[in-house]
Amino acid sequence: MFDQIADSIYFIVSSSFDSNITYIKSGDHEVLIDAGTGLYASALDKDLQTQGTSLESITDIVLTHCHIDHIGGVIPLLERGSPKLYLHKAEAEPINNGDMSHTLGDTFGADLPPFKIDVLLDEGDLIDFGDVKLRVFHTPGHSAGSIVMKVEDSGILFTGDTLFPGGSFGRVDFPTGSPEKLVESLKRISEMDFEIGLPGHMNAMKFNARRSALTSYQTAKNWFKT
Ligand SMILES: [Zn+2]
Repeated sequence: MFDQIADSIYFIVSSSFDSNITYIKSGDHEVLIDAGTGLYASALDKDLQTQGTSLESITDIVLTHCHIDHIGGVIPLLERGSPKLYLHKAEAEPINNGDMSHTLGDTFGADLPPFKIDVLLDEGDLIDFGDVKLRVFHTPGHSAGSIVMKVEDSGILFTGDTLFPGGSFGRVDFPTGSPEKLVESLKRISEMDFEIGLPGHMNAMKFNARRSALTSYQTAKNWFKT
């Protein structure tokens, strides 16, 4: 079920193993932020239909990192349409070279076929979808290529699996995870100017998300003793 966050930004909180998914309609662009596992693509299609669109119409999928619960949904979308795929270069390069080992497909017993990332993201990039523009910040820790993205001229931050609500944060015990880097990334996020945080799992942080980020940073710093 879509939760409208701003004019053209709709957030779906997952009730399954899926990541949360955001749908953005901006001019000719119909964008997803993360794509879920792909196991629930028909439910996503039904949700999209309530907005007068469908899986076929998605033009762009921006991935916050390479884990299967965020990128598995790329497969059904590629079968139904031809969306452009975006991922941080640290994780896009291995995938484009056919190395799917960091996607955690094996860990979850899912066989994810190889696919190509079209746009390799880097720190500071601006993804221009017309009215909606996304600024990319490289925030490693949960994984080497994890990013958060700020909607330009708004207080909205997509926090992926780096920052969760309630003083929580992403795991660091998967391949390429790093507690030290996560603490640094949470510190950086806690110093950003934003009001609403849209995480990869759990509920949206709709008010005072920056304060929530500060709690997560302090908790992680104590927890990992960095
Ligand atoms: Zn993850």
